[in-house]
Amino acid sequence: MYCPATTCLFLRADGSVACWDDAGCATSLQAADQGGDLSAVYTHEGGCGRIFEALSHGRMPFPEICPRCLCLSFTAKPAFDCELLDLLQIEPSNDCSLACPCCEVTGRRLAGTLRPALLDHDLLRRFLSDFMHRGVTIRRIDFQGHGEPLTHPGLWKLVRLAKDFFPEACTSICTNAQGDVPPEAFDSGIDQIDCAIDGVDQESLSRYRIGGDFARAFGFMKRMAGGPFPGTRPRVVWRYLLFEHNDGQEQLRKAWDIASGAGVGELRFIFTDTGPFSRRIGSPGDLARALDSAGLPGGRIRLGTRRSRECREDLRQMLYRSRLLTRLAGRCWRARPERMAASRSGSLPAVTCDFHASEAGNLRKALVLGADLVRSGRKGDAALILSHVDFMLARPVIQGGARRRRSAAEAFGRLHDDLAKSVRSRT
Ligand code: SF4
Ligand code: SF4
Repeated sequence: MYCPATTCLFLRADGSVACWDDAGCATSLQAADQGGDLSAVYTHEGGCGRIFEALSHGRMPFPEICPRCLCLSFTAKPAFDCELLDLLQIEPSNDCSLACPCCEVTGRRLAGTLRPALLDHDLLRRFLSDFMHRGVTIRRIDFQGHGEPLTHPGLWKLVRLAKDFFPEACTSICTNAQGDVPPEAFDSGIDQIDCAIDGVDQESLSRYRIGGDFARAFGFMKRMAGGPFPGTRPRVVWRYLLFEHNDGQEQLRKAWDIASGAGVGELRFIFTDTGPFSRRIGSPGDLARALDSAGLPGGRIRLGTRRSRECREDLRQMLYRSRLLTRLAGRCWRARPERMAASRSGSLPAVTCDFHASEAGNLRKALVLGADLVRSGRKGDAALILSHVDFMLARPVIQGGARRRRSAAEAFGRLHDDLAKSVRSRT
């Protein structure tokens, strides 16, 4: 059993460290007012070490939460190296100026339970300093969370701080691009900027990004792609969720034209199963046909598959397990911006796609592990795995342009039934 909570950390805007994401993010691994060494959470005695210990013995770290958590993976072994952090995710702010219908920030605001918080600059300094003094290597630092980073007035100073402590880490930010670009942004040392803009004009953007201003978002993206950065320019990625109101042939063409004109490095279409998802384009094959009809140049289209996404994830985990490979990958990555800058003058954006992780193989492995646990007499642990599989199966999936639920029999046949019977029968 693997969970990213042992290789990644999520520092929330209130200063606490959450149990990574999804169902776990409401559970704190380290309190906001923790005194002493703030890197203690990432040691064998801290929260991450305890999660690793449980996973290594085939146990769910939080039996009341993990069965409902999407982060759990059964295709990889647990990994934990207290001197190597694969990803530090930093949430600058937990508030947002938009009201996307499927976002939990919108939900909390409507329910009156949102307590706005901005990450304290001094707390981040202490946090990073404690990790640096303990000799932890951080591979990536990503500024995003459950809220919009640009609503933090000192965002770019936070980015600069992170880059000063960990100059070799790749720094990125994911934003709705509804903000200005102050001069300090160019000096922040940011390496990648992901702009979530799901449309090509005011009408198509504001159907989902409620309250969003297309001209503002486009202005932000263009300024970032062409701004006066002193060193290597950051890579600008346009993230475009495919909805039924923005997937037309002319809209795809327009997105390409806008991205090319703005100097964007990558136009990434994302398949989603939430909100008014696209019925027309639900797979890389559909997208390739749609882009071809829209007249995009085939040489710039690089659509991966679910399988290639899984391979990337396997590679990432392999890197994490080897210090030598990690160092080599770091060197290659640092050489990459120069190569990209050299090749970029006048170059066109790459067109890619991304999707939610494939789960069928993962759940199949979960059922096999559950059967092993029953055989070794651990019925309680097997029952938790079964409830995780049932929870995941209860979520609707997109198939043939429609949202539907799967039955356990349809998804896994006897594998699921056998485990369910074993769990019920052995007391
Ligand atoms: S699977 Fe469990 S340990 Fe992992 S993030 Fe979710 S709640 Fe936390
Ligand atoms: S822009 Fe992002 S944080 Fe803001 S409401 Fe939409 S999804 Fe949520």
